[in-house]
Amino acid sequence: MPAIDRQRILGDLRRLAEFGRYKTGVHRPTYSPVDVESRHWLAEKYREAGLDTVIDGIGNVIGRNPSARRRLLVGSHSETQPYGGWLDGSLGVIYGLELARAFAVDPGGAGLGIEVAAWADEEGHYGNFLGSRSFTDALPEEEIDRIRGRDDGTPLREALKRAGFADRQRERVDPGRYVGYLEAHIEQGDTLDTSGLRIGVVETIVGIWNYRVSLNGEQNHAGTTRMVRRKDAGVAMVRLATRIHERFPKIAGPRTVWTIGRMLIEPNAPSVIPGRAEMQVQFRDADPERLVLFERTLHDLVGEADRTGPCRVEIEPIARSEPRPMDPGFQAQIEVAAERHAPGMHMRLPSAAGHDAAVLSYRMPAGMMFIPSLGGVSHHWSEDTKEEDIVLGAQVFADAAECILRAG
Ligand SMILES: [Zn+2]
Repeated sequence: MPAIDRQRILGDLRRLAEFGRYKTGVHRPTYSPVDVESRHWLAEKYREAGLDTVIDGIGNVIGRNPSARRRLLVGSHSETQPYGGWLDGSLGVIYGLELARAFAVDPGGAGLGIEVAAWADEEGHYGNFLGSRSFTDALPEEEIDRIRGRDDGTPLREALKRAGFADRQRERVDPGRYVGYLEAHIEQGDTLDTSGLRIGVVETIVGIWNYRVSLNGEQNHAGTTRMVRRKDAGVAMVRLATRIHERFPKIAGPRTVWTIGRMLIEPNAPSVIPGRAEMQVQFRDADPERLVLFERTLHDLVGEADRTGPCRVEIEPIARSEPRPMDPGFQAQIEVAAERHAPGMHMRLPSAAGHDAAVLSYRMPAGMMFIPSLGGVSHHWSEDTKEEDIVLGAQVFADAAECILRAG
């Protein structure tokens, strides 16, 4: 059995968190100077672990095992959300590194190899899942031409040039090279933490469907326009948002979530009746039929609001990812490993967050394992996990990887 080194794994996680440290968390946006520095540091660690390593044309750090006969690809993303946590993404990247080292010296693991990847921009500073999509041939050059940074509008090409990655080749997957892809991550929700459990076996990564709803009324003077004559797009949006929040609970499954996370009114001035308004509606579920039902209901509510007037209401889809079931065999192997090291302290659950494993699952069998997030906090600098859970998780993950490599 490949043995995990507690001090080494905690030490490397803490070292990686120094790149862009912010309070107890990390601020390391994709292609920022600290992100680039951290990728070079990771590449060096991969080389020390005996891997042939490249940083490719999109910023992925990929370490290949030159000698193994059967290989498992292991990784996650290494940038963070703005002022985010020290474990989101980094945990899976350092687990991958630790597994590569543990397998290399394990006498029973001859011929079995771990290859590692630190994907670029899963967190969407430029576009979502850039690195894993690039690796799986799902990121066309035209999209790279088009993408701009979400904060300051920097063209992606420009950011890649500044990072020193622009002239490099983008690495592409050879699915035949791998038994599959495995990713560890903090849960980010509070299911494990509140249940007092230590390992989560991911069954499915939820589908995420997003829409833009726009409402068109009439911009006019807030004093001289009588109430009966108004076509207030702001009022129409708030009414519709309320109806959505009233109706969705009636059709929700136990884990469906929905969010109206962005609302705009124009011109957004105190003495002007809003002439136009816009909101973005998102929902997530692991069940494709439930997603269809939510979509139909949202369309019904929008149609109803449009017919009732006085504003015109329109809806358009923005982005849609389908639920991605994880490989059943990988789930079973993770569960067996969890039962060996933490008997009775594990559960199966869906992932309510998107992950690179969903992207990889289109090209090879994929699996995911969670460890608890204290208080279910993530995408915030205070995000944390108990040390003993980090170490236990690594050992369970290593065991699962070994079983998957032997069984595949
Ligand atoms: Zn993440």
